[in-house]
Amino acid sequence: MKERSKKCRICRQEFIPKYSTMQATCENIECMIAYSSKQKDKKIKRELKEVKERNKSVSQWRKELQQVFNQYIRLRDQGKGCISCGKQLQGKYDAGHFYSVGSYPNLRFSETNVHGQCVGCNQHKHGNLLEYAIGIERRIGKTKLEELKSLRNDRLSLPLDKIKELIYYYKDKVKEIKK
Ligand SMILES: [Zn+2]
Ligand SMILES: [Zn+2]
Repeated sequence: MKERSKKCRICRQEFIPKYSTMQATCENIECMIAYSSKQKDKKIKRELKEVKERNKSVSQWRKELQQVFNQYIRLRDQGKGCISCGKQLQGKYDAGHFYSVGSYPNLRFSETNVHGQCVGCNQHKHGNLLEYAIGIERRIGKTKLEELKSLRNDRLSLPLDKIKELIYYYKDKVKEIKK
């Protein structure tokens, strides 16, 4: 077998693995120590994350989904105008619901029900809904708006499995856009 050199993960110098092909560092003792403590840190971090996830309540998972969902909506709508007033969205802006979360909780995570909205319309004009009604029809079309309307009184069934699935789904979409 031909000996293949590798790059030390710590000092970045080339070395020929002597102990095993998995060897990650050169034989410099400082590199070995640094690498092993790095691995230990990683392991501790991973374990902490697992413990945290095991103890997370359903409402915490939902909150996480809400965050990543809103992040996705804001990224999807960047460069577009505010759904209500048309003002160019830049800097800080919100993901605004057409059918409010309070009255229509089942549309909380509906992509057609949530659009990029300026802070003025979302927070200071309570969603600026009259303008929103015009903007949303322009954005998604009459058919989809009718569809959304017909769904608004459905019951939401969002078991924990589904919540976790959606978190992964939107994390992926966010990554995809940021690429
Ligand atoms: Zn090294
Ligand atoms: Zn606005």
